[in-house]
Amino acid sequence: MKNTQRIRERLLKAVRPTRLLDMATKLVAVPSRTGEAKGVLDCFADLLKAEGFTVERPDGGYPQAPAVAVRWHGKKPGKTLQFNGHLDTVHLPFVPPRVEGDLLRGSGSSDMKAGTAAAAEALLALRDADALETGAILLTAHDLHETPWGDGRQLNAMIHAGYSGDAVLLPEYLNEVLPVIGRGGLTWKISIQRPGAPVHEVMRPAEPNVIAVAAELVNRLLALDVQLSGKRDKLAGAESLFIGQIHSGEIFNQYPQECRLEGTRRWLPGTKHADVERQLRSLLDEVANVTGTTITAELCLMRDAFLLDEKNPFVATFQGAYQSLSGQALPIGAKPFCDDGNSFWALANIPAITHGPRAGGAHTLNEWVSIDDLARVAKLYASTAVEFC
Ligand SMILES: [Zn+2]
Repeated sequence: MKNTQRIRERLLKAVRPTRLLDMATKLVAVPSRTGEAKGVLDCFADLLKAEGFTVERPDGGYPQAPAVAVRWHGKKPGKTLQFNGHLDTVHLPFVPPRVEGDLLRGSGSSDMKAGTAAAAEALLALRDADALETGAILLTAHDLHETPWGDGRQLNAMIHAGYSGDAVLLPEYLNEVLPVIGRGGLTWKISIQRPGAPVHEVMRPAEPNVIAVAAELVNRLLALDVQLSGKRDKLAGAESLFIGQIHSGEIFNQYPQECRLEGTRRWLPGTKHADVERQLRSLLDEVANVTGTTITAELCLMRDAFLLDEKNPFVATFQGAYQSLSGQALPIGAKPFCDDGNSFWALANIPAITHGPRAGGAHTLNEWVSIDDLARVAKLYASTAVEFC
């Protein structure tokens, strides 16, 4: 066993909770809505430079907010473990950082600036404890994560440009299961239109009623959802077609010109994203033909589906590190959301485990993260690296 007790103890002691909280607070303090994360990425780069690391700024095709990458090598060549986080936040009013007991609050504290700071602290601890005998750490942080403002394009370009490790840890707010499967997802916006202008209902032309066509379409989409529910995984659940919004008309007696619907489509590994789009578009074409309307759709990929082979050695390595810190193994489970781990698997077949601090309020004004648990994540990432690399 290469992780001797001595190195392990030195490493765990090298995690400094105060330094970690300081970095997390500084990251939360910089507003960074998706697409506008340059400031916080600059801040992260400066903090890492001040710690003596060489920081690369690959733009991943988005020079408005270049990403951050640090490669740090152990004593001998070996495998690379990547820690990857996004520093953009959803488009909500900015909430500045505030410490309350064990909680750090503020925009991005949960999703996922504090987790990214914990990953950086793991790197600092590995360096300070001189604990990495072989291999390397690649720490990356980027913008363009949160949909619909971002679509993962910057990270995808970075993966294609070689900013990827042999395995990846992602400190998103999920820690009660070890996720081995996750559904892919897209958002859809559909518009049903008739040719004429909006008009008083008593003057209406012999044109299709877009609300009636929407009702027909809703029935067809619900039937598709029932059909999809036959494709089911015991952990991740079923494929689905979900309708979340429907809008038409301005006042009660106007014959509307357009009806709009919005929702999501989720699918399991094994189903191809291109086939999902084809299936939905052909259903829309059929309804448009039968009803004499024009139906257009905007389909926006969140992420493709995610799968991690439970027998992949990285799973056992991570479980070993988790177990030695907390005394028990993590149950195997599913990832409820789409995250960047999906991209690592879908684009490059790289094993990726999402595991972050105890946190909540993601995508709300009340984000929080447990300060205590951040140190646990830093220790877990650092000890996984020693075992994996
Ligand atoms: Zn996130």
